[in-house]
Amino acid sequence: MGQDILSLCRRIQRIYADIDRETSRVRRITGLICPPGCGSCCRSRKVESTPLELLPMVHHLVNIHAADEIIAQIDGAEIRGDLQCVLFRPELDDSMAGCCSQYAHRPVLCRMFGFGARLNKFGDIQPHVCRVMHESQPEALERLIALGGEKKVPLYRSYFFRVASLKPDIGFKPLPINRALKLALNYYYWKKPKRFGIRLAS
Ligand code: SF4
Ligand code: SF4
Repeated sequence: MGQDILSLCRRIQRIYADIDRETSRVRRITGLICPPGCGSCCRSRKVESTPLELLPMVHHLVNIHAADEIIAQIDGAEIRGDLQCVLFRPELDDSMAGCCSQYAHRPVLCRMFGFGARLNKFGDIQPHVCRVMHESQPEALERLIALGGEKKVPLYRSYFFRVASLKPDIGFKPLPINRALKLALNYYYWKKPKRFGIRLAS
């Protein structure tokens, strides 16, 4: 059982490597870049993920003995009614700036936002337009939009489905990110109870 979850994590990570290659290509071609220190998208209360997408991160958190701390942070955020991702670390002197404390393990939407595209209701490709990039790099954004017309922008839903199909029962329903992280922790502990103890998030 333990081996199953580890091989699942590795398969998810391989898809993440594909996403990273594609978004790097978009960066290279368009010149789009996230301004240093920008944490605007992480401050959104609307970031979603599936529990499945967060399993590699949970595996890492358990390995570095940080899972209990994260569960406590999620519990605290729930009590406060705060939907901001608990993994975001704001700058001390600027709460709008900051970084992801688990950047290498972030889920699909976080990897693709600003550099990918979605299909609109007519089936046309529409690049995700990041407001910060729109204001700071309008020319680079135009190049991204032009790429979208040639179908060379990575599609969010393609990668979402590639990950989701690996384990549909926990892969197809996006949830607010803190909730998804808590469920991913539960799932991980449930699959590996002997080695990692039995503290379950409620
Ligand atoms: S995607 Fe946009 S909002 Fe998010 S870090 Fe990059 S520039 Fe900032
Ligand atoms: S997982 Fe990381 S990149 Fe995604 S919203 Fe949270 S802090 Fe931001």
